[in-house]
Amino acid sequence: RYASIGFFGIGNMGKHMVTHLIAADHRVTLFDTNPQALDHFKEQKQAKIASVPQEAIANSEFIILMLPNGKIVRDLCQSNIFPSAKKGTFIIDCSTIDARTSKEMAELARSKQLSFVDAPVTGATIAAQKGTLTFLVGGQPNDFKAVEPILGNMGKNIVHVGANGSGLAVKICNNLLVAISMIGTSEAMNLGIKLGMNKDVLAKVINSSSGQCWSSQTYNPCPDVIPNVPSSNDYNGGFASELMAKDLLIALDAAKQVKALTPLTEKATELYNQLCSNGLNKKDFSVIFKYLNEQ
Ligand code: NAD
Repeated sequence: RYASIGFFGIGNMGKHMVTHLIAADHRVTLFDTNPQALDHFKEQKQAKIASVPQEAIANSEFIILMLPNGKIVRDLCQSNIFPSAKKGTFIIDCSTIDARTSKEMAELARSKQLSFVDAPVTGATIAAQKGTLTFLVGGQPNDFKAVEPILGNMGKNIVHVGANGSGLAVKICNNLLVAISMIGTSEAMNLGIKLGMNKDVLAKVINSSSGQCWSSQTYNPCPDVIPNVPSSNDYNGGFASELMAKDLLIALDAAKQVKALTPLTEKATELYNQLCSNGLNKKDFSVIFKYLNEQ
């Protein structure tokens, strides 16, 4: 059975996720504050473009959010979704935001007889395009059951991690690790090339040795080692450095709350902040290679 779905945030990730929902025969209504983000869907019969947020809320059984940060999620929920959604609507927040804001939104939603789950994703834009994302869901078991089939249209692994906020706790641990491994891969590739090594030989050896990781194997930051990744396209598309800087701040804040030591996350945050203030904020986070190379 198809569902009526309101989708907010048709960016690098959202546009691919919506394409899978349409392919699964759902009726989607799309809203984005940037009208250009919606151009691609104008001709699609199953996609309705909302001119105001309410049009994607009032008649939706499910509302999916794929937005840049927690402030935007909070504003949209409090100003538009909570006042306009019909009782029983499931709100699925796939954005990476801090767990505290998410738990607060879940409480407020419950008081209005709405359901709210955090369902951040791992897998980057390539996985969004292929429909192979992993969704890390935090919420009540019944809510998980209800949203699982919808998420299954956009991803391969749909994991119920625990109560509200749990999905985000796991997500932020993964992202601090990928930031650190991306910086490490960039350091190794940069040093090797400056020592006169061929980039392809270097990558091949790392990828069959103990230095192998996702950043070297699947998303290598050195241009033209792997085709169709942002580094081979002048670092366009993918996961913006400013979003990585945001995720690292969330991780640092979470670590502070529980007094966990994260010295490399601190260094990674410093580097990504520097990179953003040098005008590389919209470029994919693998641009750290180029930044180190040009220093
Ligand atoms: P993006 O910046 O490409 O897209 C976000 C979209 O939200 C933009 O089109 C923007 O115009 C829109 N938007 C902003 N405010 C809005 C509002 N009030 N209402 C409706 N639309 C609004 O970002 P993205 O790369 O697609 O990432 C989205 C979320 O997913 C982020 O939280 C990010 O951390 C997370 N994420 C991204 C990746 C990735 O590889 N890009 C991977 C995992 C998770």
